[in-house]
Amino acid sequence: SASSAPGNMVHKKPVVIIVIGMAGSGKTTLMQRLVSHLSTSKSRGYVLNLDPAVMSLPFSANIDIRDTVNYKNVMKEYHLGPNGGILTSLNLFATKFDEVVGLVEARAADLDYVLVDTPGQIEIFTWSASGAIVIEAFASCFPTVVTYVVDTPRSVNPVTFMSNMLYACGILYKTRLPLLLAFNKVDVVKHQFAVEWMDDFEAFQAAVEGDSSYSSSLSRSLCLVLDEFYKNLSNAGVSAVTGEGIEDFFHQVDKCADEYMESY
Ligand code: GDP
Ligand code: MG
Repeated sequence: SASSAPGNMVHKKPVVIIVIGMAGSGKTTLMQRLVSHLSTSKSRGYVLNLDPAVMSLPFSANIDIRDTVNYKNVMKEYHLGPNGGILTSLNLFATKFDEVVGLVEARAADLDYVLVDTPGQIEIFTWSASGAIVIEAFASCFPTVVTYVVDTPRSVNPVTFMSNMLYACGILYKTRLPLLLAFNKVDVVKHQFAVEWMDDFEAFQAAVEGDSSYSSSLSRSLCLVLDEFYKNLSNAGVSAVTGEGIEDFFHQVDKCADEYMESY
C-alpha cells in the first residue's frame, strides 16, 4: 500500500529491469531485443548502459556510463588491468548515481520500463559496492526486478546448470529483489529441460548422477537447497536473436513488479 511505501516510492511505474548474467550469456543482445520490443509495442522505455568497456552498443541508451567515465583513461590513470578498470569506472559512476535516479524520476510519469545493462563480467557488478549502490538506488524508488540471463545451450550440462543456479541464488539473497531467470538462446536449445529440472529435483538428480566427475552426495544436498530457491523464482525462455518469448518475458516482469509492490 502507498502508506507503507519506502522512501519516495509513490509510482507503480516505471518498472526497472536490471539485466545481469555471465559474460556471453547475451545480456546486451537481450537489451537490444527488449528495447526494440518496447518501441513496437508502444511502451515507453528508458535505457541505461552501465558497461564502461563495451565497444559498440546495438541499442541507443538514454544514459551511457561511457559518456561520463573513460575506462581506458581510468586504467592508465590508476595503473589497472581491464577488470580493475571496469570496477573503478563503475565506482566513479556510482558516486553520482543519485543524479541518475533523479533524471529517471523526472521522467517517471512518461515511462513504463527502465532497462539497465551491466558489465560483461558478472562479478564486477554483483560483488562490488557500486553494484549494490546502483541496485539499492533504483529499488528504493521504483519496483525493481533483477533478470538473470542464462546461456541455455551451455546449461544443458547439469553441473554448469547447477553452478549457474547457485550464482543466481546468491544474487537473490544479496539483493532481496524479485528474480526472473531469462533462459536465453532458445533458438539453439529449448529451455524445457531446465524447467523440468527446477520442477522435479529427482529428474535433475538423475541427470547429475550421469556425470561421473561430480560428487553425487554434494549434488544431492545442493538439489534440496535449490528446490527451495526455485520456489521464489520466475522464469521465461527467450531468444534475444529471434525475439521468441519476449512477450512472456514482459508478462513475467510485470508479475514480479506486482509482487514487489505487494511486499511493501
Ligand atoms: P553479454 O556479454 O552477456 O552482453 O552477451 P552478448 O549480448 O554480447 O552476446 C554474447 C554472444 O551470444 C554473441 O555472440 C551473441 O550474438 C550471442 N547471443 C546472444 N543472444 C543470443 C540468442 O538468443 N541466440 C543465439 N543463438 N545467440 C545469442
Ligand atoms: Mg554485454
